[in-house]
Amino acid sequence: MKIYKFGGASVKDANGVKNVAQIISKDAETSPILVVISAMGKSTNALEKIINAYYHENSDLNQLIEKFKSFHESIIKDLFQEDTPIWMNEVYNLMLELECLLDNENLKEDFDFIYDQIVVFGELISTRIVSGYLLKLGIRNQWVDSRNFISTDSRYRDARVQWEDTERIVKNRLEPLSQKNLIIAQGFIGKGEKGESTTLGREGSDYSAAIFGKLLNAESVTIWKDVPGVMNADPKKFQNTHLLNSLSYNDAIELAYYGASVIHPKTIQPLKASNIPLYVRSFLNIDATGTCVSQDTNSSEITSKIHKNSQILLEISTRDYTFIAEDSLSFILSTLLNNKVRMNIMQNSAIQFNCVIDDRENRHETLISKLKEHFNVTVKSGLQLVTLYGKGNEKDKNEISKMGEILLEQNIGQVTHYVIK
Ligand code: ASP
Ligand code: MG
Repeated sequence: MKIYKFGGASVKDANGVKNVAQIISKDAETSPILVVISAMGKSTNALEKIINAYYHENSDLNQLIEKFKSFHESIIKDLFQEDTPIWMNEVYNLMLELECLLDNENLKEDFDFIYDQIVVFGELISTRIVSGYLLKLGIRNQWVDSRNFISTDSRYRDARVQWEDTERIVKNRLEPLSQKNLIIAQGFIGKGEKGESTTLGREGSDYSAAIFGKLLNAESVTIWKDVPGVMNADPKKFQNTHLLNSLSYNDAIELAYYGASVIHPKTIQPLKASNIPLYVRSFLNIDATGTCVSQDTNSSEITSKIHKNSQILLEISTRDYTFIAEDSLSFILSTLLNNKVRMNIMQNSAIQFNCVIDDRENRHETLISKLKEHFNVTVKSGLQLVTLYGKGNEKDKNEISKMGEILLEQNIGQVTHYVIK
């Protein structure tokens, strides 16, 4: 049994869907496959706009819904021409369900809760279309709703998997099904404590693929991307980049954690625990082998550079020149946690604590005002963070120093961070 995961870019239009169908149909002949598919193209972003418009009662809500619908309708039209099969009604039902939900005045409670109830439609619709197209090609497959299998807590937009429940349901219900059928499932989505929809965090479909891979004891998980595999650095940012043919689980965890966006950070752990190899391959060049992440590799020699934009440096100091001690540290860290802000770097001296965070959806504004109740806070935004993983040489360091003024440099083991203005 193999797990294949296709992201939004692979199904951004009808040709994309045709290409995905070709890859699936070829490989499904030799091995049972469970396929995880994301929302089409940028439709999760489109749904985020819809959610905001709904929540804030903006007048462009209907227009945004129409745009979302017609984007999918035109893909359906391209795929099926004039004779849209009867089973495409499933898609139109989903769209209707979405519209009815957005008509509902009573839903307006917690924003994150509403977000999850609505955003799941991107993956539900996308997988219905791909499943229907495979049927049109005569490729038998079973569409499943991943919310039935992935049981989570109710931390909306960042739900944690309830492993015991999930394992039981997957083993009892999905495993027997997956031995006989090609399965088409969604990534990213799950079901919370009250049976409501939840999501695992943006770009979380890789993680879903890993969860299915682990619980179905798959021989491998393959993430199909529009890049050749895991590169040692982003070719758009750095020179002389190359493909990493193999990577150890630990290297992959570190790279993903520091922002190498090809793999979602949570993906590796479940696979590592069961020693399941992860392949990252290009859906544009299916003969290329891409990158293999596994246990046995002698890749401890790799050097990689990871670049992140939109970073904020917070310099937090005590007002009365008392020390930054355990009590103030504990206050700062719990304030970060409560505001769901993740630190990329932290550093402290006797009277100052510095941290670098992602500039995300204004989450830092409440954070900063909370911190300012107790400390002096200086905010430097619009920064870049470069993480050099591995030894690196003079050339790497030169290239980094040319990117701008280095405000902060920090080294721990084989990781060196540069915060650049
Ligand atoms: N569709 C979701 C997103 O764009 C999940 C995913 O693609 O992994 O964030
Ligand atoms: Mg996506």
